[in-house]
Amino acid sequence: MPENIQQKIEELRTELHQHNYSYYTLDEPTISDFEFDLKLKELQDLEAKHPEFYDSNSPTSRVGGEITKNFPTVQHQFRMYSLDNSYDFNDLEDWENRVQKTVNGPVEFVAELKYDGASISILYENGKLKEAVTRGDGFQGDEITANVKTISEIPMQLHGDFPERFFIRGEIYLTRKNFNKINIRREEEGLDPFMNPRNTASGSLKIQDSAEVRKRGLSSVLYQYISAEFPAKTHWELLHKTKSWGFHISEQAKLCKTLDEVKEFISFWDLERHKLGFDIDGIVVKVNDLAQQKNLGYTAKSPRWAMAYKFKAEKVETELQAVTYQVGRTGAITPVANLKPVLLAGTVVKRASLHNEDIIKKLGLHEHDFVYVEKGGEIIPKIVGVNLEKRNTENPEIEYIKNCPECGTELIKIEDQAIHFCPNELHCPPQVVGRMIHYVSRKALNIENLGSETIEQLYREKLVENPADFYALSKEQLLPLERMAEKSAQNIIDGIEKSKTVPFEKVLFGIGIKHVGETVAKKLAKNFNSIDDLRKATAEELVQVEDIGGKIADSIIAFFQNSENILMVERLKSYGVQLERGENTSEVLSNVLENKTFLFTGKLSLFTRDDAEEMVEKHGGKNISAVSKNLNYLVVGEKAGSKLKKAQEIGSIEILDEQEFLNLISK
Ligand code: AMP
Ligand code: ZN
Repeated sequence: MPENIQQKIEELRTELHQHNYSYYTLDEPTISDFEFDLKLKELQDLEAKHPEFYDSNSPTSRVGGEITKNFPTVQHQFRMYSLDNSYDFNDLEDWENRVQKTVNGPVEFVAELKYDGASISILYENGKLKEAVTRGDGFQGDEITANVKTISEIPMQLHGDFPERFFIRGEIYLTRKNFNKINIRREEEGLDPFMNPRNTASGSLKIQDSAEVRKRGLSSVLYQYISAEFPAKTHWELLHKTKSWGFHISEQAKLCKTLDEVKEFISFWDLERHKLGFDIDGIVVKVNDLAQQKNLGYTAKSPRWAMAYKFKAEKVETELQAVTYQVGRTGAITPVANLKPVLLAGTVVKRASLHNEDIIKKLGLHEHDFVYVEKGGEIIPKIVGVNLEKRNTENPEIEYIKNCPECGTELIKIEDQAIHFCPNELHCPPQVVGRMIHYVSRKALNIENLGSETIEQLYREKLVENPADFYALSKEQLLPLERMAEKSAQNIIDGIEKSKTVPFEKVLFGIGIKHVGETVAKKLAKNFNSIDDLRKATAEELVQVEDIGGKIADSIIAFFQNSENILMVERLKSYGVQLERGENTSEVLSNVLENKTFLFTGKLSLFTRDDAEEMVEKHGGKNISAVSKNLNYLVVGEKAGSKLKKAQEIGSIEILDEQEFLNLISK
């Protein structure tokens, strides 16, 4: 029997490896995602029951695209501790005294930059990268090997006299340069910029598609060797050993004979840190001798042999010259403080974000106040207070604007949001441009080479005002634009032409109906054959579609009540843009479920809800979103609640478990 199971497990692994290969490498899927998930689930169950057949290379633990909607959780063999913090030299001296009490004899330190990113633990076996895991809660983290493998600095194969098995820890971070690049790209795609490099780095590690992670351009630095035994006597030696095996260690780390040298190091980097190409939030001081480290041990939270020194956020005082208001591409208003230029954290600051009216009120800002400006982890500095002693009492309080600075329309403030909006979607210049940028963005019509700057120019030249105008552009109209070469003009024209083949669901996303994001657009495209069908739909019909609530339905209806939108849609249609569902959007497997309606409820374990719904459609059935007399089948998973109860009350609805549903479609 066990032999059969082992064989079965191995067969499944081989088969799934093969499917993975066909899917990712050959780009020729051999089975549906649904079937793949079923097999994977079968393998997972077998592996859970038979840990003796564990294989780290099993498809179940491999990260890659769709199958890792959730990264597997991994226990850390050695706990990942936090660091104790100190904020001044007194704290640091106290720490040294505590260390001296435990350790007899002189203590040396290693001072290192405290990189501001996401920490990581990587396991190497026989010189090969085996597994990379996030810090998580310190006891267990997420396995993100595939993503970490995309970071060029992290070696896949070691050199020299490396030990057979060990962990190495370090930080994954983003240089300011790469962070800015990401934001420039996001802006071109009409997306909001990321706030700071640290969050962006840790967020990037959790992207499902590792090819996307690669594009982020992450960096790494490794600072701790971990295993039961050490191939050296000091941390300093260890660092240099790991370097000789191929790891990237910090160039700035310094061996300090005394705490005074540590203090010098700290003072130096407190001033110089802004010249580094990346963010640090302090210095980490470690006892160098590994025997002393062992002696000192750990508290419940952190090693006693290490201490972080946190830099203070820098704060300066300057004069507020004026508050101006920016209108975003979605119509959101952002107040901006224009400041008398001042040096802060190595850069000249002229502006600070004020976010919204509430923040201005809370600060009680008056015109020409002297304000304190701070730079934390965020790129844009913020005002943290007012120097009241310097206020001229004749200066009036700042009053928030009532009308849009771009188009004059009266602003609205949506309840439960602190932000003001300009409601003039169709004619407020930044919003007009924003809508066109959204239309060409990658996830919408994906018109390459047509960047935000070009769109802005075209708009200024009055050549385009809405997405339909792109299709009327000629090369001759493009050529006179700034920095427009013959070749780029041709590329743009070709790109626009190519967008006519982009499927309906993406066009639906691209035309920018409020609240219709990518997922909603997909759902709509599945349920309505064409834009005309969608236009005819009533609110009642719209909310029948899963995930479409009243707010979205209202917004769709409002969109089609506007004659300018209708004109745009008609023009897009006349240019040949896909405003109907194409033949191949939904592949048909059978019609066994024809005229039958389905709804899934409770926690499903054999398949995901998305997959199940896809299967319903592929077999000719329809998914609906609520229990009513129109429902034929309710498929229930674990812990089904009110929907099941309601279906039982109605009586005419057939109730199935997951297996019964599978039987139904495999008939
Ligand atoms: P904290 O998150 O403030 O408790 O600080 C602890 C974190 O600092 C660790 O989890 C590491 O991710 C990070 N760190 C950055 N640079 C270093 C370094 N050179 N040595 C140790 N930890 C570091
Ligand atoms: Zn406006």
